[in-house]
Amino acid sequence: MRARGAGEPRIDPVDPLDERGIYLDNNATTPVDPRVVEAVAEALARDFGNPSSLHRFGEQARERLEASRVSVARLLGARSSSEIVFTSGGTESIHTALHTALAERDSKRDGGTVLTSATEHAAVLRPLENWRARGFPVETVGVDSSGRLDVARLLGRIGELGSRLALVTLHWANNETGVLLSDDEIERIASASHAHGALFHLDAVQVPGKLPLRIDRLGVDLASLSAHKFHGPKGVGALYVRDSVAGRFRALFTGGAQEGDRRAGTPNVPGIVGFARAAELAREHVEDRHARERVRTLRDRLEREILRRVPGTEVQGSPGPRLDNTASLTFPEVDGELLLMTLASDGLAVSSGAACSSEKRAPSHVLLAMGLSHAEAERTLRFSLSRLTTSEEIEIAVEGVERAVEELRTLGPMR
Ligand code: PLP
Repeated sequence: MRARGAGEPRIDPVDPLDERGIYLDNNATTPVDPRVVEAVAEALARDFGNPSSLHRFGEQARERLEASRVSVARLLGARSSSEIVFTSGGTESIHTALHTALAERDSKRDGGTVLTSATEHAAVLRPLENWRARGFPVETVGVDSSGRLDVARLLGRIGELGSRLALVTLHWANNETGVLLSDDEIERIASASHAHGALFHLDAVQVPGKLPLRIDRLGVDLASLSAHKFHGPKGVGALYVRDSVAGRFRALFTGGAQEGDRRAGTPNVPGIVGFARAAELAREHVEDRHARERVRTLRDRLEREILRRVPGTEVQGSPGPRLDNTASLTFPEVDGELLLMTLASDGLAVSSGAACSSEKRAPSHVLLAMGLSHAEAERTLRFSLSRLTTSEEIEIAVEGVERAVEELRTLGPMR
């Protein structure tokens, strides 16, 4: 990188121990990696051309766009970069996948059911509620008390619906508990869906940077990604569209012929360049087994120490495969919201359920689907780590939790 000239903006590297405190809310969003900040800043300044333009400025932006597509395809383990459609993030990707299925179901004589699970993100459940209200058949399969999808029941229902099935849409990993579908489960669901001509969409938003991805081998048709969940910028994501289903794809945004006529609108080139840089760094991280183990060890230490110091605390989503960075903990007796606020005022950033529901007082639909009572769900907090989390931060966090619980117990019941 060239030396910074006088008057040029300074980009400070992320300081995980900054004065705002300790950040353990990485499933909500992640700090942008300074190398991503640099890539975005450079693209903002230099690659301002419209990638659809034929002159050199356009050509340069187009080159950056296509190189970025290759990086994202590599992160996902896609067969070809042509399988990547850039979008404005996870929510748009999901809506595009659902829109494709809506077009599919129009072509099915007998309706076309959508199958999903009870613990999906609101970006899936809310649009499907709207479909249901409009009379479209949408079915939801439940989870057990550890948050695991009842895969046998789902496969059974796929078989019963047969040609009436239009789409199966499931998340790879839950944002609140970290509970994962295994590769084997994904493959089985994909092939059962395909046996009846249905599409399979995977909401993969929580997985990049946490696990190695081999999307091509899994047989998934559509998969949604979002850059801000793995140290990239917000407002940029991608939809993976398997080449073999390209003919069935329906654009959500129509207008210009950008993204191979699959997503109209001038692409956010700087954001996409940042997404690609974040994808490269995420891939490096997940391919380093020791680096991944370090995150799991820190998460395990956080859980073990909190369970030891605050007896009666319960871990949600365990046993069974979970993301290495996520701890969903139900605390005994204390008011969850007060605990969250006490921790926040002490500089510890965690969350209660999904970030988007932290403004509402409604308990998490994920925890309720797992059979927790309203009171238990309200006493549950999510701690989510990233590759930037340090062991010093975990120690401080554990002490902060112990102190906050003690403080609230001393105050006694509030209501
Ligand atoms: N799906 C899951 C599992 C998520 O965790 C999120 C974000 O929290 C989304 C979808 C939505 O992604 P975005 O914020 O990029 O719209």
